Amino acid sequence: MEFEVITGSITEIICDTLIVSLLEGVTLPSGSVKELDEALDGLLSNLIHDHKDIGKFGTTTVLHVCGGIGAKRVVLLGLGKLEELTVDRLRAAAGFAVRSASKLESRTVATVIHGENLGGIDLALAGQALVEGTLLGNYRFSHYKTDPEPELVLEKMYIIEGDTQYISTLQPALRAAKIIASAVNLVRDLVNHPANHMTPSKMAWHAEQIAGRAGLEISVFDKNQIEQLGMPAFLAVAQGSQEPPRLIVLKYRGAPNDERLLTFVGKGITFDSGGISLKPSEGMHEMKDDMAGGAAVLGAVQAIGELKLPVNILAVVPCTENLPSGYAFRPGDVINSMDGKTIEIISTDAEGRLILADAITYARKLGATHIIDLATLTGACVVALGNITSGVMSTHPELKQKLLDAAALAGEKMWELPLFAEYKEQIKSETADLKNSGGRPGGAITAGLFIANFADKTPWVHIDIAGTVSSDKNTGYNVKGATGVGVRTLVQLAKSWGAK
Ligand code: MN
Ligand code: ZN
Repeated sequence: MEFEVITGSITEIICDTLIVSLLEGVTLPSGSVKELDEALDGLLSNLIHDHKDIGKFGTTTVLHVCGGIGAKRVVLLGLGKLEELTVDRLRAAAGFAVRSASKLESRTVATVIHGENLGGIDLALAGQALVEGTLLGNYRFSHYKTDPEPELVLEKMYIIEGDTQYISTLQPALRAAKIIASAVNLVRDLVNHPANHMTPSKMAWHAEQIAGRAGLEISVFDKNQIEQLGMPAFLAVAQGSQEPPRLIVLKYRGAPNDERLLTFVGKGITFDSGGISLKPSEGMHEMKDDMAGGAAVLGAVQAIGELKLPVNILAVVPCTENLPSGYAFRPGDVINSMDGKTIEIISTDAEGRLILADAITYARKLGATHIIDLATLTGACVVALGNITSGVMSTHPELKQKLLDAAALAGEKMWELPLFAEYKEQIKSETADLKNSGGRPGGAITAGLFIANFADKTPWVHIDIAGTVSSDKNTGYNVKGATGVGVRTLVQLAKSWGAK
């Protein structure tokens, strides 16, 4: 889809659908809505008068008009109450609006910048939210349908900005929005592909495409090379599967004089059956999304490279399946790790932390100075925070705060879970240095504490995205299926990282 900023009149623009927005509780049309209302002989003021709910957040009211204006129809988008308006709500509102316009089989759409001149929201941020919300809300995954739903026909969106002096302010924000939304949608694709298609080798292939597009250095290690690197915990998980593992390493150098190396590590379990500690079959098909942390890392570095941000990034993504077989690792096994710590396996379904342990150790060897890991790690995190909020755990208050600030700016909900030392008792093993499962109580936290052993003294933050990885409905800028969670936060963190 193409975007063009224009300065034309809202009533004259020729398009299939015109999108305008209004706040909840307004009694009289104002601004662009007023102009439109006059051209439509008071149609909008009558509507506002008769329907008190018309500005409710996320609602869309379609008006088919015959003449009077250039557009064939108007979508009235509700922005909710002024005091509840945020940039992320604008992003979500754009998602609702674009799906409404798409349903009407619009080819060309014109829209105002929702939230412009409202609640002190910066125009560039409002513009970015509009483009991000539009591209994210219009996403569809129909790769495997031989008879897909009618294709999305939306080709062009005109963004109407009355004041020419703001156009130059808007352009960079819109460009950034396109780069970020494409990265999120790429991650959604990777996650939505089923596990028979999105194998570790396929993940590596996509990483190579990303590296080419975004100008990144890439190394992909096969099973023998991973053995030579010495990653026994990673390989223990991989040994039950016929499908060979891959270790993906990407580097981006945007700040040659900065000694800091911001590092993203993502869990890339392309299918998690639980291994010998087999999961119940109900819901197991969803375990194709167990590589979403790894995918988010790939998407984030693509966006960071394309945005040419002044920061140095290392990305490490270990990819493997977790399957039961005669070769699979077993509960009760004691395995080694790259770091040298021994691990007693309590559950082969607690495999994510094992591959992350070695990936984080390897990242430290490569010079990581700050590590953020993303993983669909625990059902316990879903119980604690539901599908709305990702869990954040850290041993480094300063880096944690930076990450939480970035998440807030990016509009991704994240909340801290505590890593109090008392929880460590649960992962003490009688036979090895650690055990890989601390049982059900505080399961997200004990998983975090397990990983903390391998981050050691390097500033580190762990993000558990098990609950936020997918959406069960179309709402705002999320559509049913993978959400692409994490990308926007990581890109924002890299943006805020700043020169040093
Ligand atoms: Mn598992
Ligand atoms: Zn898993």
